Amino acid sequence: MRINLKDIIDVPGGFVPFVCELETERIASPAIARHHTPPRAEGQVTNTAGVLTLTGVIRCDMDMICDRCLEEYRLEKEIPVSVPLAAELSGEDDSEIYLLSGEWLELSDVLETCFILDMEQKRLCRADCAGLCPDCGKNLNQGPCSCKKSCDPRMAVLEQLLDKESI
Ligand SMILES: [Zn+2]
Ligand SMILES: [Zn+2]
Repeated sequence: MRINLKDIIDVPGGFVPFVCELETERIASPAIARHHTPPRAEGQVTNTAGVLTLTGVIRCDMDMICDRCLEEYRLEKEIPVSVPLAAELSGEDDSEIYLLSGEWLELSDVLETCFILDMEQKRLCRADCAGLCPDCGKNLNQGPCSCKKSCDPRMAVLEQLLDKESI
């Protein structure tokens, strides 16, 4: 999807709203098991004192694969988007700026990039996910495995304390 910005490109205060559904096959990631609905972006391109900015939010509802225990979990998420746009680059510090092709903005491109960057973070089913036992592969969220004692340093300290007390 592309949008035409000719009505606002030279009009401070002007804005163009948009709604755009992302194509799931273009934003595939090994961390995503499936989308319940395709991610949908809503927002606007605004001309603020001559500077164009795309702002909005991408709403997603997905089954993700936990980075630590490899179980699937559901993630409903809103990804905030704020991208400066320009018709041409002016020199320094242009790395964040998305270039227009004439008066056209390749909206899908920008939104897909924002989505993919957001997906690059490590994702866990929960903050304290215990992960898999490195020896037997059991999912430790479901309880301890029968391998020898954990070598978690925090546990080791605790065990030392307990040992001292039992002397
Ligand atoms: Zn997990
Ligand atoms: Zn184990």
